[in-house]
Order: sequence, then structure tokens, then C-alpha cells
Amino acid sequence: MKTLNDKVVVITGAGSGIGRALAVEVARRGALVAISDIDEAGLAETVELVKEAGASEVRADRLDVSDRAAFATYAAAVAEQFGRVNVVVNNAGVTMTGHFEEISYDDFEWIMGINFWGVVTGTKEFLPHLIASGDGHVVNISSLFGLVSMPGQSTYNASKYAVRGFTEALREEMLVDGHPVGVTCVHPGGIRTGISRNGRKTEGVDGPAVDELFEKKLARMSPEKAASVIVDGILKNRARVLVGLDAHLIHHAAKLLGSRYQDVVARGSRRVLP
Ligand code: NAD
Repeated sequence: MKTLNDKVVVITGAGSGIGRALAVEVARRGALVAISDIDEAGLAETVELVKEAGASEVRADRLDVSDRAAFATYAAAVAEQFGRVNVVVNNAGVTMTGHFEEISYDDFEWIMGINFWGVVTGTKEFLPHLIASGDGHVVNISSLFGLVSMPGQSTYNASKYAVRGFTEALREEMLVDGHPVGVTCVHPGGIRTGISRNGRKTEGVDGPAVDELFEKKLARMSPEKAASVIVDGILKNRARVLVGLDAHLIHHAAKLLGSRYQDVVARGSRRVLP
């Protein structure tokens, strides 16, 4: 895919943060946009921004990506309305902070339902349309934490590593089968969004301190800059897009250290984490 002009782009979790910035960025580059979220008020704000950015057609739906039946109905409706679908960005995601011993099965299933199954369902339901378009692309948003594990992030790490494994195999299959569909797995570092505040924490976690650490120290890049890096990655059909200097540095440091990175992270986190 050389340009987004006149392409139909589907983005989940577009009511805020990276999803919203992506919707605006693709609209600016000439795409027709289908956005969804569970947050209808946030989604309505994104619709206005996308229109201001010049989108010729915008469709907005309330969609919970963990609801498989609703996702199937949604994908069929989008394909029918636009007559084609070129790009799906499986972006909707949530966080869960706390040590594994404190985490319930319900919390684990909640995060996997959104971060992993939401991505699988979005891919499954849109893939036939992407193939039929003759020029398609799947973009799955993993995380730096889909490459490197952190204490307190076992559920999020599991969901984002799963997204990476799934997405990399899918890219290989598209190549083996000769389908006209590029596949990109995106690994952002800290991006200034409400993701920490919107996430769940176990009882033992000092939520405000975690949110403050994320928002004041760790989340360095704006969602708008992240969106532009991601779109450039799609247009270059990159297999993997690392977003932010932190993502590049931490990923490469962990690669150099091999599995010993886990001991280094454990020691460092005692000093940094609240
Ligand atoms: P955000 O909280 O601003 O946006 C996430 C959006 O997903 C919200 O609008 C929320 O309402 C929506 N959402 C939550 N549950 C949903 C559901 N069940 N169905 C549909 N929509 C739902 O956070 P963000 O930072 O923009 O996150 C976007 C993606 O980027 C996520 O997958 C996240 O894991 C990933 N990511 C973010 C960062 C970061 O530092 N912000 C880093 C790495 C990866």
C-alpha cells in the first residue's frame, strides 16, 4: 500500500489516545474512516476531529471488541457500507497493574478478552474483506511490553506477547499464501494517553502513584507523533514498528542481555516502581 488516499481504514478504541490520533492522521492522508469504541462520548469527539481533518466519509459505532458476535455484525456492516475495507487497526486495549498473586482469573480473562481476543476477532472478521480489497493491511497494536516483561504487568505482558506471536505468524501466512495483505505489529513505548488511569490495579497497588509515574516520567511521546510513526510503518509494510526512543533502547538492551534482562529489570524496578 503506497498511499491511504481513498482507502477504507477501520480503527478500534478510537475514542481517545493513540486510536483517536490514528483516525485523525489517516483522515488527513485521505482515508475514509470507520471508528469504534465503548466510550461513546470520546468517540463523538473523535468524529468531529476526523471531519476537521478532511475525511470524506466517517462511520462511528459503539463496539466492545471483546464481544465476538457484535464484532462480526459490525465488520459485515462496515464492508457493506463502504463496499471495501483496506486497513484494520486493532488498537483497543487496557492495562492491569499488580502482582500475579493478587490477580484474579476474572481480571486475567478481562484483559485477554480485550487485548488478545479483540485483536484476533478484529483480524478474523475483517481478513476476508482485506484480501478481497486487493490491497489490504492488518495493524495490531502490541506494546514494548510485548517484547520485554515487567513486574506488575504479567497479564498485560501475556496479552501483548500473544498479540505479537499471533501477528507475526499471520504475516508469514499472508506471504506463504500470496495474499495481498501486509501485516504490521506495533510496539509503542510510553505514549501520553489515559491508558494507565483507565486501567485496573490490584488492591495493593498505589494507583495514583503508578498513574503519576506513567504520565510524568514514562510517557514521553504524544499520541499524534505515535500515529504518524505507525502510519509511516504501514505504508512501508514494516513487519515490526517500534514507537519511541524508549521502545528502541529498552528492546535492544534486552536483546543484548538475553534472558538475563529479567534480573536487571527486577533489580531496577525496586528503585523505580512505587
Ligand atoms: P487509551 O486508554 O487512551 O485508549 C484506549 C481506548 O480503547 C479507549 O478509548 C477505551 O475506551 C477503548 N477501549 C477499552 N476497552 C474497550 C473495549 N472492550 N472495546 C472497545 N474499546 C475499548 O490508551 P492508548 O494508550 O491510546 O492505547 C491504545 C493501544 O495502545 C492499546 O492497545 C495499548 O495497550 C497500546 N499501547 C499504549 C501505550 C501507551 O504508552 N499509551 C504503550 C504501548 C501500547
